[in-house]
Amino acid sequence: MIPSVLPTYNRAPLTFVKGEGSWLIEADGRRFLDMGAGIAVNALGHAHPALVDALTQQAQALWHTSNLYNIPAQQELADRLVAATFADTVFFTNSGTEACELAVKMARRHFHDAGQPERTRIIAFEGSFHGRSAAGIAAAGSEKMTKGFGPLLPGFTHLPWGDHDALKAAIDDSVAAILIEPIQGEGGIRPLSDVCLKGLRDLCDAHGILLILDEVQCGMGRTGRLFAHEWAGIAPDIMMVAKGIGGGFPLGAVLATERAAAAMVAGTHGSTYGGNPLACAVGCAVMEQIATEDFLQDVRARAGYLRQRMEALVAAHPDVFEAVRGTGLMLGLKCRVSNTDVLNACYEAQLCAVPAADNVLRLLPPLNITEADIAEAFARLDAAATAVSSC
Ligand SMILES: *Cc1c(COP(=O)(O)O)cnc(C)c1O
Repeated sequence: MIPSVLPTYNRAPLTFVKGEGSWLIEADGRRFLDMGAGIAVNALGHAHPALVDALTQQAQALWHTSNLYNIPAQQELADRLVAATFADTVFFTNSGTEACELAVKMARRHFHDAGQPERTRIIAFEGSFHGRSAAGIAAAGSEKMTKGFGPLLPGFTHLPWGDHDALKAAIDDSVAAILIEPIQGEGGIRPLSDVCLKGLRDLCDAHGILLILDEVQCGMGRTGRLFAHEWAGIAPDIMMVAKGIGGGFPLGAVLATERAAAAMVAGTHGSTYGGNPLACAVGCAVMEQIATEDFLQDVRARAGYLRQRMEALVAAHPDVFEAVRGTGLMLGLKCRVSNTDVLNACYEAQLCAVPAADNVLRLLPPLNITEADIAEAFARLDAAATAVSSC
């Protein structure tokens, strides 16, 4: 008999009932160190007082009105995002996949209204992940995500990661946008170098193509800058954001320049829940904490320590781990044994991490994790690796 919850997930046999900072408490009372943060979502850990306050205050005032009316918290969050980024304008969604839908629509509509309606093609990359909607799976194009769901949304071209010649060859007058994650998350923590990101920007400028960055996972302070592309000194035309922006409350956004967004006039797009008062009240509190130079400086310091500990871990267990990769607090441990075995050993050691493609184990801790908790993460990962290699 089919379970009452549609069984599309491979769940670990764990049930968490409470969270405190970087810790999760299991129903049986065991405390787990949370190095996954709900897949880069709980950017400020669990039950952060400022987020709890923002949510409860808004909950007592007003939950929902729809976008038929002005929403002050939505306006405030948009103003904060515009002030802190390249963007001139923001649309709020509930998730990353909805942000992908709009990013694709915005790019196509831009060229439609610019008198180039033949420009509809979006170039995306193998190993990428942009969500599970029709546009999201068509964009990523992997067999695993698309099998049996055809016909797929047309107009996507998939290129190998890092193949410059294939990229140059794919550029023609039918291309509307290049869509890419500055650091592939689900794909196994594969960072794009700053040089490549700059090169992509130049290529887009040379051919009048829009650059869409998917910063759903790597954005919101995760790399030690508010957004990962800032390291390369470039800006996209359109950017997808979600995960960390709501700190655990469902929230996503599309940020764009005025030029890229100009065709999205009244009636061209909408969402019942997008930019809901509860989500935006929490989003403002998240921005208040994360979008400061002091906080991001601390993230970079913690990231340096985590990196050093993880390099030591790999050095201590060369039979289990091959390398550390990633940036900031978005690290991947490339495994020599099955990443599922390592993950199960982590659960035994009461540590949560997140598997990724390419046999990688992801570490995506809360951005405010303490040094003591990073040291504890090393101890638990060390115990897990020792258990795996003695199997
Ligand atoms: C998680 C993720 C998405 C999809 O976000 P959802 O909120 O799950 O819809 C899209 N892109 C990237 C890079 C992601 O990591």
